[in-house]
Amino acid sequence: MSQPLDPIPQFGTRPDRLVIANVTIIDVADGTARPDQTVTIEGGKIVSVARAVKDANRPAGAMVIDGKDKFLIPGLWDAHVHTLALSDRLHFPLMLAHGVTTIRNMGDGCSWRSTLDCVADRDQWQPSAQGPRIIASAGYHIEQLDSAEDAERLVKAIKARGDDLIKIQLDDESDPDASKFAALVRASGRLSVPATGHVPSTARLTDSLFEALVSIEHDSQLMPLCRADEPVQCNALLATLAQRRTAYVPTHIASTGQDLALARHQPEQDALLPFNSSALAAIWRAYRWLHRSSTDVHDLRAFKQIHRDALRLTLKAQRAGVPILAGTDALDPFVLHGPALHQELAYLARAGLSPAEVLRAATMSPTMILGEGDETATIGVGNRADLVLLNHNPLSDIAATQAINTVIANGVVYGPDERVRMMAFVKQQAARFSVGARSWWALAGFDPV
Ligand SMILES: [Zn+2]
Repeated sequence: MSQPLDPIPQFGTRPDRLVIANVTIIDVADGTARPDQTVTIEGGKIVSVARAVKDANRPAGAMVIDGKDKFLIPGLWDAHVHTLALSDRLHFPLMLAHGVTTIRNMGDGCSWRSTLDCVADRDQWQPSAQGPRIIASAGYHIEQLDSAEDAERLVKAIKARGDDLIKIQLDDESDPDASKFAALVRASGRLSVPATGHVPSTARLTDSLFEALVSIEHDSQLMPLCRADEPVQCNALLATLAQRRTAYVPTHIASTGQDLALARHQPEQDALLPFNSSALAAIWRAYRWLHRSSTDVHDLRAFKQIHRDALRLTLKAQRAGVPILAGTDALDPFVLHGPALHQELAYLARAGLSPAEVLRAATMSPTMILGEGDETATIGVGNRADLVLLNHNPLSDIAATQAINTVIANGVVYGPDERVRMMAFVKQQAARFSVGARSWWALAGFDPV
């Protein structure tokens, strides 16, 4: 590629000390609000949380944000996103600007090439990345496995290439009795790499073979295993998942919700296109066109029913104690990194989760299941200061997570003007010839750079 990419500007400001004064802290653990708090941050960590302090008591030289009439929540997690070599100039600023401060990377450009030799996209963007923290990365999708005996060798090879997450995507055709899936989950457990993914519909997940499975992705994957007309089986499965702390990441926005959203004419979808490279925007449009033109009124009715059932299952899983994680599958058609997370939160609320439960699905629960323990997801002394300052109370209406004032991540403060600048930068980059050419090149199967 002869066209050089633009340098990525430094976003945000990094104060030595930051004070958020007179703010209402949202405690995601118990779903309560604590008004008039002052939070002091140093080196990316919360060093004190106290009742509002007077100006005179504020540490000298600190950057001060007035938190009056504002609400502070922990940074949001997206437990299922995809990255590309261009993510550092497209997806990362978008996610940060939308309060997404930690992600689980469920695949990159290598994933679709099914070759272990592919240089993971993250190796290309990591040196310059200003983006959310990445808790785990699966750069390789297991879409085929010759036999169950090969499982351990493959998991070892994936680990050796630097992946710290095993993503299994075998379908019923390639794994009719789920024996390969079971072998992969067991091998992952033995080699201490978390395993996740799609589940063959014949897998009896209550069996101890599947103990090492960290999470189940997509509502369309859990639904066949947990059918409304087989309540005893479904309840037993949910109880097992709850007891094992195996998480459920419904990604409604990219699964049953997407089938419905794309089939309907929703003009707001088009507003997402300018944030994409020309190649990805073309794929999204083509996918939507194909989806719409193959959907008749009966299909639409079926999509509605399936989506309603999916939301019902999410509520049932929540009530059974299964950890629900908010994830989006961003990169999927009309699922945009950043905004998609807030749409997924709206789906979870529609399913019947309370605002506090929805918040936990994007903060505490992923921290507990994927990260470093539930303690770190609250706003307390010693915890990571990845925070989002909101203009409205998310406990009254979860849509308030979209009313973002300031995002703080990894010691950097992204205020209102900076967030606008970041989004404008992404739009400008998406329209650049150098970016478009690279994305078409990657789409054609050549190396992305
Ligand atoms: Zn995915």
